[in-house]
Amino acid sequence: MLTIQAIPAFQDNYIWIIQAEGASHVLIIDPGEAAPVLEAIKQQNLIPVAILITHGCHDHVDGINAILHYFDVPVYGPKNEFIPHITHPLSACDGLVIDPLFAEFRILDLPGHTKGHIGFLIEGNLFCGDTLFGAGCGRLHSGPAEVMFESLQKIKQLPPTTTIFCAHEYTQANLRFALETEPDNIDIQQRMDDTDALRKQNRPSIPSRLALELATNPFLRCQDAETFRLLRLKKDQFK
Ligand SMILES: [Zn+2]
Repeated sequence: MLTIQAIPAFQDNYIWIIQAEGASHVLIIDPGEAAPVLEAIKQQNLIPVAILITHGCHDHVDGINAILHYFDVPVYGPKNEFIPHITHPLSACDGLVIDPLFAEFRILDLPGHTKGHIGFLIEGNLFCGDTLFGAGCGRLHSGPAEVMFESLQKIKQLPPTTTIFCAHEYTQANLRFALETEPDNIDIQQRMDDTDALRKQNRPSIPSRLALELATNPFLRCQDAETFRLLRLKKDQFK
């Protein structure tokens, strides 16, 4: 079993640290900020073995340089985006060995939020960056809505037990929009109560399960690209 911890960064980002079973070795995902990561590593005597990057937004990559200053590790990230420091450019593939202490990764191409966005799947855990959020999805920074819609269809095809690790704590605001979209959806109502309770205790609402997203995430519940496009537009204007 992997140990996966959330390192809060900035206002509402999560940097994920994946720890190998029975070892101190860790993978760092999307370090937009170095300080909180270096602090956790020091406090817990962890040994970074690689940095994994889902996409090039500054709040996912700005900490790479400072971490490399202390730990000379390889950096895996999307082939189709220009991101400094990447040593291992990736696109969709199976059976990627990043470190022998960790199981093989599957890489998914998930363009839409950005043009080269990728996701990392290991042992039923999907690190999806800014593609999917709790009850929401990323903004469309590049390309047409169809591209993001297709990426979401790839995620929908994973087993419903897949654990979803997204990169922001947006769930509460997303659920307000979801409930407006589907006022009678009792799963959304229930998830709002559960999420409010977690956040009251200052606990992350992430990770979630794909099954829960399928029941409550309006962007995964769209059946066609045009409905998705209109929903995304509506969300962009939602206050
Ligand atoms: Zn982003």
